[in-house]
Amino acid sequence: MLVVLSGPSGAGKGTICRELLSQLPEIRYSVSVTTRSPRAGEKDGVDYYFVSRKEFEEMVARGAFLEWAQVYDHFYGTPREKVEEYLASGYDVLLEIDTQGASQVKERFPAGVFIFVCPPSLQELAVRIAGRGTESPEDMEIRLRWAENELKDVSSYDYVVVNDVVKDAVEKIKSILTAEKCRCARVMQER
Ligand code: 5GP
Repeated sequence: MLVVLSGPSGAGKGTICRELLSQLPEIRYSVSVTTRSPRAGEKDGVDYYFVSRKEFEEMVARGAFLEWAQVYDHFYGTPREKVEEYLASGYDVLLEIDTQGASQVKERFPAGVFIFVCPPSLQELAVRIAGRGTESPEDMEIRLRWAENELKDVSSYDYVVVNDVVKDAVEKIKSILTAEKCRCARVMQER
């Protein structure tokens, strides 16, 4: 099962992904490729594969991405090969990508599970991004404006989870995944 998690920067997707990965042994995280610089504490190959703009463009040209998009001033993409490899090995795959990427994935994997993670409010989002202390005031402004835009795409997702308390949001997502696995169509397909 392909699981796509989107939502504005500061919605808490990163924390939720880490929790899901530690609690669900059958799921694998798809590490994205990005042209943005690493933040303090981020590791190449773990948080992202950090590449130059030229390397990214080469990957686009050779069809290495399942999807890719420009988010803020940077490029982000999901390496196709790893996702296909995990799915072929029977794992669920978790993608943490923006709404543009999610709509590309939906075209290729309509049976994927698309979950939008929302902050309780835009004010709370601003507080969280500021509290993270990783963005300059200009970047913060960009992310907040982008967030307002992204919230408009909620209706194209299968589920919306408001991340007020992380533990509760994680439980909700785990319940969604459990229910999705019991869908008749999925069970019949696996037989
Ligand atoms: P950040 O720079 O805060 O790590 O991520 C910025 C945005 O890029 C987030 O909304 C995140 O979901 C999105 N993103 C991360 N990886 C990918 C990817 O591989 N593809 C797409 N389309 N978006 C991504």
